Amino acid sequence: MQNLVHEVMDQRLLELLDAWREAFYPSESIDDPKHRFARFLDHLLVIGIDGVKSRYLHYGHNFTERFGTDLTGKVIDLLPTEILPAERRGMLAFEYTYARRVQRPLWRSYTAEFGDGQTETWQRLVLPAGKGRLVVGAFATATPPPHGGPELLTDGVALLRFLIERVPVVIDSRGDILELALSLESFSDTQQQMAELEEWATLDALTGVANLRHFHHLAGLELDHAYRMGRSISVLILDIDHFKKINDSWGHAVGDEALKAFAGACRKALREPDILGRIGGEEFAVALPNTRIDEAQMIAERLRRQVEQVSLPLSQGGVVQFTVSIGVATSMRVRASRAERPDIRSLLAIADGALYRSKSEGRNRISVAQDSEAKSG
Ligand code: GH3
Ligand code: MG
Ligand code: MG
Repeated sequence: MQNLVHEVMDQRLLELLDAWREAFYPSESIDDPKHRFARFLDHLLVIGIDGVKSRYLHYGHNFTERFGTDLTGKVIDLLPTEILPAERRGMLAFEYTYARRVQRPLWRSYTAEFGDGQTETWQRLVLPAGKGRLVVGAFATATPPPHGGPELLTDGVALLRFLIERVPVVIDSRGDILELALSLESFSDTQQQMAELEEWATLDALTGVANLRHFHHLAGLELDHAYRMGRSISVLILDIDHFKKINDSWGHAVGDEALKAFAGACRKALREPDILGRIGGEEFAVALPNTRIDEAQMIAERLRRQVEQVSLPLSQGGVVQFTVSIGVATSMRVRASRAERPDIRSLLAIADGALYRSKSEGRNRISVAQDSEAKSG
């Protein structure tokens, strides 16, 4: 696949990708993108994102020549429609949000139209450059845009060109394709929705994990993505056993410490992309992207055991220990029609049914939803 990418990606973008790979560590910012990528400067956009606004910090000379305006310093969302039409704006907002979220390069090709009816095909690479900053390299390419047709599907190069003309492709630092950035629908294309997105990004104050609303949002995006990519996604609902007793025996403050320790134990048992949220007092939920039911069951079991190991020392001596009951559900109906697909709330409700079984069968155990069992394999 990497060879194919190298065949299709504009040579100058490949060089830019190399330069970016040398400069970028996801934990740090690229100190001065303009300096770092000086030799690409004319073909480069540097974008700064503060809160909800995206602004061009640098607007390459080549774009000014082709499109007639220097947009340095301008807020992208506020540009007049003759400079940036609504549908292009939506596309850009999506690409920038996505690249920021996955912290990976996004590669796509698009056709630019000029006033005189002339069109030109460009390839763009959106590169994360650290805290609220993106670097975009774009070159007009000599390759004519592909025109659809089934014969294209037999030719890898043509297929890849066809693909990047329609959707952005997420690549890794070596230039290998990781996935397609398909969830455009889930992302917003207006400033108002962008502001809502930011507002939603709130964490639970006590435990530092996602709050209910944010969990639904993140897990919903992952579910949508799983459907589009034909992948499995599983969810867990966790409820601490006899939690009321902890409060009653040692007080609310100790109960709070127990909740923090619980969240810590969960994080320890989970993988990097798993999403953990607090959905109620002593109830938590986990979304496990890319996870089949058998794997989800293993993770739930690991989690259950990790919680058993927690031992919270008390100031008056002794320790607090507790256990958790878990319900597991998975969404295997990826080929079901749109209408039949459970949304994140119904998937969680299915897991909740399984949790109820764990409780009634004695607690400190995991149960898998019948629906998931029937459809796994
Ligand atoms: P079960 O095994 O059936 O789940 O029993 P339980 O005692 O855990 O369940 P129940 O729902 O009866 O009690 C939950 C308790 O969690 C009641 C509530 O006071 C406590 N709780 C909820 N939120 C917090 C919180 O933020 N801090 C503390 N300390 N306690 C909380
Ligand atoms: Mg409860
Ligand atoms: Mg409970």
